[in-house]
Amino acid sequence: MNWDLSALYENEKALEADLLDAKNRAISFENVCKGKLKELHVNEFLESIREYESINEKLGRIMTYAFLKFATNSDNGSFYARYQQEHSSIAEHLLFFELEFNKLAKPKQEELIASSPHYKFYLESLMEEKPYQLSQKEERILLKKEMTSGSAFSRLFDEHFSRLTFSYDGKKLSEEEILSKLQDANREVRKNAANAFTKGLKPHQPLLGYIFNMIKTDLANECELRGYKNAEQPRHLDNKITQKSVDALIKSAEDSFHLVHEYYALKAKLLGFDTLYEYDRYAPLEDKASEYDFEASKKIVLEAFNQFNPKFFEIASMAFEQGWIDVFPKNKKRGGAFSHPATPSTHPYVLLNHTNTRRDLFTLAHELGHAIHQYLSRDVGYLASDTPLTTSETASVFAEMLAFDAIKENLTLDEKRSLYASKIEDIFSTLYRQINFTTFERKVHAHEGELDLSTFNRYWMEESQKMFGKSIELSSNYHLWWSYIPHFIHSPFYCYAYSYGQLLVLALYGLYKKSDKALFVQNYTSFLAAGGSQSPKELIKKFGFDIEDEQFWQLGIGEIEILLQEFKGMCDA
Ligand SMILES: [Zn+2]
Repeated sequence: MNWDLSALYENEKALEADLLDAKNRAISFENVCKGKLKELHVNEFLESIREYESINEKLGRIMTYAFLKFATNSDNGSFYARYQQEHSSIAEHLLFFELEFNKLAKPKQEELIASSPHYKFYLESLMEEKPYQLSQKEERILLKKEMTSGSAFSRLFDEHFSRLTFSYDGKKLSEEEILSKLQDANREVRKNAANAFTKGLKPHQPLLGYIFNMIKTDLANECELRGYKNAEQPRHLDNKITQKSVDALIKSAEDSFHLVHEYYALKAKLLGFDTLYEYDRYAPLEDKASEYDFEASKKIVLEAFNQFNPKFFEIASMAFEQGWIDVFPKNKKRGGAFSHPATPSTHPYVLLNHTNTRRDLFTLAHELGHAIHQYLSRDVGYLASDTPLTTSETASVFAEMLAFDAIKENLTLDEKRSLYASKIEDIFSTLYRQINFTTFERKVHAHEGELDLSTFNRYWMEESQKMFGKSIELSSNYHLWWSYIPHFIHSPFYCYAYSYGQLLVLALYGLYKKSDKALFVQNYTSFLAAGGSQSPKELIKKFGFDIEDEQFWQLGIGEIEILLQEFKGMCDA
């Protein structure tokens, strides 16, 4: 079951012809419009932004084709690289457009926006960055220096980690291999892996602490130069949300940490341990979960979608029937899974590596959720199709909830208990852990001057302890486990977006179960169809809620309480 790329291009000759066309149009676009935006009449502006979008969409189509070829066969690396190069040289001709728009006087910008309502949110988002943009000369210096400041430390972190190995049982394991042993059914294996991981990290602490300090200082300097209020503001701007709504999210999560304590107390009982340590957190409750081959997974997911909204069923059926999906692992095919949005005039493409596990069934639901979102939002156009991180995982995680509800009734008690445990632990790690990460980062970035290692360790333990309370004994090993989290280095304050997405889905799911189902499905479908053309605040308004109000987030917490109650019931049985 391979995907059919002919919706993008019949063959490489057609691809080449499009590349040439994109290049010619980009050059003539630059010749006609560069330096002239301020003189353009509103109609001429509308015409130019349409052309700008159309060229970008064409480039998107070319890059999708090249990338998908590469994703299923790594031998196509140089083929892909060639198109990347072509793309960036063509994109240079288009760069001026956004910059020049942001240099226009405000009344002119407003006049242009008013006459191009289809591009309102896109253009307004551009304007929001304006107060923090520096002169062209300064931007150029920052861009050049970035390679040897923040980016350089990020790269140092990656390169250093890729060379690290961890000695376990006489073998040298990679980070991924040693961490996967924390999910082993055998407690000795988990314990030894935790020790080996810590032992491997320890000698690198001075370097890892230094890198983190440099990232912190680099961000502080950039925020000062650009005039941001604090270190997290640029991220909120990117995510199209306010500090207030992030604060409301963090407060709701922290106020419900007792759910984590209750869960792990139960888990300790089920595993028969008096004390759980950090390496017991992901211990499986059963040796082997039930299997679902691709046909079985497909049937379950389609039925679940159909019950929710026949339109979802229709889109997913097209995905199965019209070659949108590349299903099985293959030699030279990349691992993992994704749904690529391609372009509004084609359709999304889904990559899977289905091996019949229960996890694969949920991955199918997850990626089809993305695909449905991407397909439903095609009318907003290419420039507004990109969703910020805060809402980009809504449809996918929501689809997983639908699949979860669909399979849970047909299981034995043991299987059901283990399904619930993995769902709850999944929610804990995307919601609560990421809140821990965020409040830890807040402490680090608020710290005056550089931190020494013991201060990193102390802040880390203080924040982690809040989540686990007395339910998990965090050993001295755990003190250094802040030092391997790549997000702190690559993209400061990134992690709360995971919590945001997770709790948003739970809140919506709670609403779905409680409210008028037909009305909810209608609102939810229009929420998805809006794609990236509105802010999360506006999107949530469709359901009659305010995202800056803790009450909304409380709906999501309520869903975790329900899951936990049901799990408790199974443990007593
Ligand atoms: Zn996803």
